[in-house]
Amino acid sequence: KAQRVPFVVANWKINKLQADVVDFLAQVNGKVPDKRVVETGIAAQDLFLSDMVRATADSPIHVVAENVHWEDNGAYTGETSPRALKDIGAKYVLIGHFERRKFFNETDSTVNLKVTAALRNGLRPIIDVDEDMSTYAQFMDAEPSVAQVAAALAGVSVDQIRNVTIAYEPTWAIGSGEAASADQAQKAAHLIRQTLAKLYSPVIAEQVRILYGGSVTPNNAREIMLQKDIDGVLVGTAALDPTQFLQLVEIVR
Ligand code: PEP
Repeated sequence: KAQRVPFVVANWKINKLQADVVDFLAQVNGKVPDKRVVETGIAAQDLFLSDMVRATADSPIHVVAENVHWEDNGAYTGETSPRALKDIGAKYVLIGHFERRKFFNETDSTVNLKVTAALRNGLRPIIDVDEDMSTYAQFMDAEPSVAQVAAALAGVSVDQIRNVTIAYEPTWAIGSGEAASADQAQKAAHLIRQTLAKLYSPVIAEQVRILYGGSVTPNNAREIMLQKDIDGVLVGTAALDPTQFLQLVEIVR
């Protein structure tokens, strides 16, 4: 774990207006530690990202997009180009969030197209996988692997994988107030790391960050962060509040 910098990512979804964004960033300004100690990112709607890049220019906070299209440009009305995201200064992009898979028909294959498009444009993907522990349990005694991880990473090279973060978010834990237990989260993260070891190598698998997401709060984050394979948290509800966001950053660092 020593070689992986912990990572806290807020996911605001579509829950803030312009004034809320300004207010939040003003409240956390100067209070987020250096990125060598802990990385922090905030995912917001595209229309706020440029302003957020400007507002965080002197801050270690990374600006994160919540989605991206798989083509760099062209006739795709309503989509966001990965090239344009890079151009405005976004650093990371969430890809394959459960809500995108559920409400917007994202599949393993579109997730994979988006991951390769992000990497090709110098954006760092945070790939959400939401397979259930019960699915994993069937494979525990066989060769365990996480199908969504393998599908998302098709064609991703050994050099590129270092820029990838994986987030394990069990669907039942997202926005439900019921987080996975630290033990469940660790088991899933471990299976994801084993999958990375099979796809790349054990050495490379140790370099990739794996986050847990799903009803994380300052109350349960500490125990989750003690787990060997968990390198950070992806937080929706609790991270809407600047005080809780800063508490989470302190716990994770
Ligand atoms: C999320 O949407 O990625 C998430 C983890 O939400 P919450 O923290 O509200 O469960």
